[in-house]
Amino acid sequence: MKRSLYREYRPQTFAELVGQDHVARTLRNAVETDAVAHAYVFAGPRGTGKTSTARILAKALNCVGTADAPVEGPTATPCGVCRHCVAIAAGVSLDVIEMDAASNRSIDDVRDLRDKIAFAPVDGRFKVYIIDEVHMLTREAFNALLKTLEEPPANVVFVLATTEPHKIPETIISRCQRFDFRRPQVRDIARLLATIVERENARPGDERGGPRIEIQEAALAEIARHSQGGFRDAIGILDKLITYSEGAIKPVDVLEALGVTDADLLFEITDVVTERRTAEALQFVQRLANEGTDYSQFIRDLLRHLRQLFLLQHLEESARDEASLRALGQTVELDDQLLNRLLPQANNLPPREVIHFIETLGEAQREIRDGLDARLQLELALVKVTRPQLDHSAAALEERLRRLEAGAAAPAGAAAKPIRAARVVETEATPALAPVATPDDAVSPGATAAEAPAATAPPAVEPPEAELTLERVKRAWELILQRVQASSVSLYAMLRDARPSGLEDGRLTVTMPSDFALTRARDAGNAELLAGAIEAALGQLLLPEFVPATGLAAEPAGADQAAAAHNMDFTALIKQAKGTFDAEEMPDDS
Ligand SMILES: [Zn+2]
Repeated sequence: MKRSLYREYRPQTFAELVGQDHVARTLRNAVETDAVAHAYVFAGPRGTGKTSTARILAKALNCVGTADAPVEGPTATPCGVCRHCVAIAAGVSLDVIEMDAASNRSIDDVRDLRDKIAFAPVDGRFKVYIIDEVHMLTREAFNALLKTLEEPPANVVFVLATTEPHKIPETIISRCQRFDFRRPQVRDIARLLATIVERENARPGDERGGPRIEIQEAALAEIARHSQGGFRDAIGILDKLITYSEGAIKPVDVLEALGVTDADLLFEITDVVTERRTAEALQFVQRLANEGTDYSQFIRDLLRHLRQLFLLQHLEESARDEASLRALGQTVELDDQLLNRLLPQANNLPPREVIHFIETLGEAQREIRDGLDARLQLELALVKVTRPQLDHSAAALEERLRRLEAGAAAPAGAAAKPIRAARVVETEATPALAPVATPDDAVSPGATAAEAPAATAPPAVEPPEAELTLERVKRAWELILQRVQASSVSLYAMLRDARPSGLEDGRLTVTMPSDFALTRARDAGNAELLAGAIEAALGQLLLPEFVPATGLAAEPAGADQAAAAHNMDFTALIKQAKGTFDAEEMPDDS
């Protein structure tokens, strides 16, 4: 039978526990000072060493040492060779009861547990119960367990292991000492894998049952990176690669075995998107198709890549020296090599574009989960992020058209003046995503809020009768920003520090905090988005104009007017859109 590397290299002593120093230290102290608790909760992700640690604790409590070095009581350094240590490591000790709560949920199992608990240790000093996935126990089982924990029998130790500690009743948790097992760092896992390879190669060939293992260090890092912080998974991947690879194992073998995307591709597509090369982005998808790539897996990998960029962009300022940069790499779960590649890309990308990209891909991921065509969703997402103006203005125009079709449109030419808006009651916080309204949904201009169908979105629509003043806009600004946030996080971020500063002739002046924010805010589609949010919150249409903090004088009036004309002539936009609504292309106003 093939040996399992994971079983073989399971940590056997507290010293061998990798990445859980706090747990090892506290347990060792408890054993040495005779302060072992009656019950422990070991909480943490799968594969982080919870059960291994429980077994080491059991050995520490029961080890009797060798004839040369007998052990009289619990020891922090179990010998590993006495009959107790051997039996516990092999999982056959009568004093260490391991059960999996997930598969022991019947009444009989509970009774069985209760009966077994009553027994004193058979052979050793302590009886140790290791209940895996303890949160899966039934209520009856928890009750039985609670009774035992309330009056713990002498020389019995419970280890309750769980990946979901919040599902364990508080009455149980409060009677246990809790340890949280952390996900080990990528470098810890890579180091452990290197040790295993070294130890395997040190064995005689016939014992190893195969040729010497040749594996590149970068391949070990790749395994570590993709094991999601679990030793078990990492060792499992290594095991599989050793079995199936011929010759030296390279990073590309790891990627192939795992079916994950080569990092080069992730860097490439991110560059293509940053430079707005739509055609190349679509050709990229064709390449993926030619290679038989799993689109869902690709989107997952790209999201991971973008998350790393995103974290770097927002954490980097705290990392100026080598040591803090290293710590940063750990947060982002990166090794130095990949970190050094990612930093330039993180520095090149505007943070709001990364956020937009993540959101758009997340949306695609949801659509795919709902059964829509994966390739099309990926293509759509790439077009949206390479042509943001298309995305925004299309959404904004669609919204305007929806209102026009509902028969409640403003009279032509009225867009420049504050109008008594005919409102369609929003059923969604995001106007662009709201279901298309039928005429029945439209509220006649005279209707009060009470007559309108109940709106579920939190910002209440104020009655349109009140005259719209700058003061009212200022009071409603938070509500308006909430609306904006629902449709565009990036615009929301730009407007966070902006303020409404003037209102005249239906034009709302919005003072931007910086030139950067000003330039960004003037991108096509943003004024429409804000106008939509204002209308949704206040029931009236205003045309926002983004101005610099120093006032209008800072910019030549001509340029300002040009910007206004470019961004804000709704009437013309709508006319144009109406005229071409049945055409294949929406107007691109960039
Ligand atoms: Zn021993």
